Amino acid sequence: MAGEPQGDCLFCKIVEGHIPATIVRETETTVAFRDINPQAPTHVLVIPKVHYANAAELATAEPTIAADVLREAQSVADEDKQASYRIVFNTGSGAGQTVFHAHAHVLGGRGLQWPPG
Ligand code: IMP
Repeated sequence: MAGEPQGDCLFCKIVEGHIPATIVRETETTVAFRDINPQAPTHVLVIPKVHYANAAELATAEPTIAADVLREAQSVADEDKQASYRIVFNTGSGAGQTVFHAHAHVLGGRGLQWPPG
């Protein structure tokens, strides 16, 4: 059920501590950890502890936690001393989403092209 831990979800397992991750920040509602395949010097994933398939579902069900994710993205950038950064929410496999637990990619530390690929 949405909002409940999913046994087959990689990011739920990271939240529960069953899979190791390089955690950079944790709050009551979120976890931020370094992406295992970084695409920039700063590439951190900020996830809600509750399970929703994507950012829109999270924002609809738990708008306060969606705001927490955005606030944590800024805190991650601050900790990595990135004045400029990009937040990406891939939504749907056609957009490159591979893990269906809402997550913000926080990317910084290099020039970022626009439009993104
Ligand atoms: P998506 O493609 O937007 O769904 O992003 C999923 C991200 O999770 C990718 O950038 C992967 O590199 C990253 N990832 C997958 N497994 C792990 C892991 O175990 N630890 C940290 N990052 C992971």
